[in-house]
Amino acid sequence: MGTNRRDFIKYVVMGSIAAGCPVELSLAEPADNKPVVDGEDNRICHQVRDGRVFTRPPVSAHHDVVIVGGGVSGLTAAYLLRHLDFLLLEKEPHLGGNAYVMDYNGTPYATGAAFIWSGDSAYPFAKEIGLNPLPISDWDGTILNGEFVPDTWGDGVNKLPYPASVRDSFKKFKKEILAINLDKRGRELFAVPFSDFMKGHADEVKLWWDTYGPSNWGATSEETAAAVGILELQGFAGDKREDVRYTWPGGNGAITKRLGEILQEKFADRMQTAATTVAVVSGKTDVQVTYMQGAELKTVVAKAVIMATPKFITRRIVEGLPDKQSEAMHQIRYIPYPVVNLIFDRPVYNKGYDTWCPGNRFTDFVVADWVVRNQPGYQQKYNILSCYTPMTEDDRGYLLTELSSRKVAQNVLHDFQKLFPGSNVDPVEVHIYRRGHPLYMSTPKLFTEVQPLVRQPLDRVFFANTDCEGPESTSSGAISAAQRAAKEVEHRLAGKLAPKQTAVAG
Ligand SMILES: Cc1cc2nc3c(=O)[nH]c(=O)nc-3n(C[C@H](O)[C@H](O)[C@H](O)COP(=O)(O)OP(=O)(O)OC[C@H]3O[C@@H](n4cnc5c(N)ncnc54)[C@H](O)[C@@H]3O)c2cc1C
Repeated sequence: MGTNRRDFIKYVVMGSIAAGCPVELSLAEPADNKPVVDGEDNRICHQVRDGRVFTRPPVSAHHDVVIVGGGVSGLTAAYLLRHLDFLLLEKEPHLGGNAYVMDYNGTPYATGAAFIWSGDSAYPFAKEIGLNPLPISDWDGTILNGEFVPDTWGDGVNKLPYPASVRDSFKKFKKEILAINLDKRGRELFAVPFSDFMKGHADEVKLWWDTYGPSNWGATSEETAAAVGILELQGFAGDKREDVRYTWPGGNGAITKRLGEILQEKFADRMQTAATTVAVVSGKTDVQVTYMQGAELKTVVAKAVIMATPKFITRRIVEGLPDKQSEAMHQIRYIPYPVVNLIFDRPVYNKGYDTWCPGNRFTDFVVADWVVRNQPGYQQKYNILSCYTPMTEDDRGYLLTELSSRKVAQNVLHDFQKLFPGSNVDPVEVHIYRRGHPLYMSTPKLFTEVQPLVRQPLDRVFFANTDCEGPESTSSGAISAAQRAAKEVEHRLAGKLAPKQTAVAG
């Protein structure tokens, strides 16, 4: 076999995280021919999940409010309550949660959330914290049968490289979905699966949505609340369509990075990373929070607590949850979802911001520096393509070891290269950022029946995180949840009852 560029691909193991869930990994030494495996540290969380009870040491500090979780939601809550004596506890060695930006030699890339919408809470909030959201202005294309089709559901629907009968099915589906009045039928359509609307349509229509759905809301069409899919298609294919998506180089991690900078500048001692909360226990006049930092367990006491953690772990940590609320939390399902970043040292693909690739082991890929590529003076040093790789719940185990995570990354690279046959598309590095439960599934009835129950305050304990907001897991949902929870805390500390829950649409 001859020598080619592929033999010289430099793979680097990097990142400060030394363990994944739950197997200890040795990432200390850079090893050639291995993609970077980076991810969450879930050892202690797994012990909590498995029912381990930790001794609670005596109280060592008092605070007004303890915020558990340093993703968008927890950081937003800390920002909104920064006039109080707050303490934020984050289990990872870094802040950001599922909206975390990394960089390769100065070029930022996303490991999770990619963009926001101008009509949602994230847009004005980003401006408030001094970030300028940059327009994406590019309808998503799709690569089908080796051909790139721009603006899939706009003009592209007439040009899909399929037989005419399949193209007609796409057009008919679009017409039928656009004719639905969501305002009138919202509640009903949140209770039935999206696949009900695909009956009688070509398999390719379903394949497209079974690619798009998992990447955006964690579920294929059978497990998606119909209203979620309908809302999406009406947004990007309706009469008044306008691309209202905005982002930054490397995606929504810009928001958590900025929040971290603002808060750390003044309150560094109140922003604790590598601090895993293991118990939240309500008393008559306060709440005790026990967390593990290094090998040390600490207990602090607060007048109020905001749980900005995902509910599958929240329900294990918070004592005294009513059975119904705990059961509602238990009903939320989460998919494993790694992001594989392919780093090229020359332009490989800059045709569209987010390109869909049905039939591959990743769903879509995003050009990391899309929104700055045309700025005066900007020169693309690295063409970084973030490949979104949602997995099924059954496949979570593949992320447990470095070896099988690497295989996931290799499969993504293999499928990506198949899309560009004959061309030299070898990356200089491949980074996989794995997460076990980052995206909740927008299943039928979740938004209308489950989430309202999940977010009910428990006296002095309040619930944030995107997974109690809905209908989709978004950075905006995380911010709205924090805005609500911060208000609830202010009310509680002022001795008033929490504001009434807003009704669900429909
Ligand atoms: C691959 C991917 C792509 C996405 N793309 C988009 C997108 O384009 N646009 C969009 O709007 N949204 C997107 N999302 C969704 C978005 O990332 C999330 O909705 C948002 O980041 C959630 O923020 P959060 O703060 O609610 O939760 P999280 O980010 O889950 O934050 C929770 C934090 O709590 C910490 N934690 C957990 N347990 C403990 C404990 N016991 N003690 C202390 N800390 C703990 C976690 O480490 C984490 O940092 C995407 C998600 C993924 C996974």
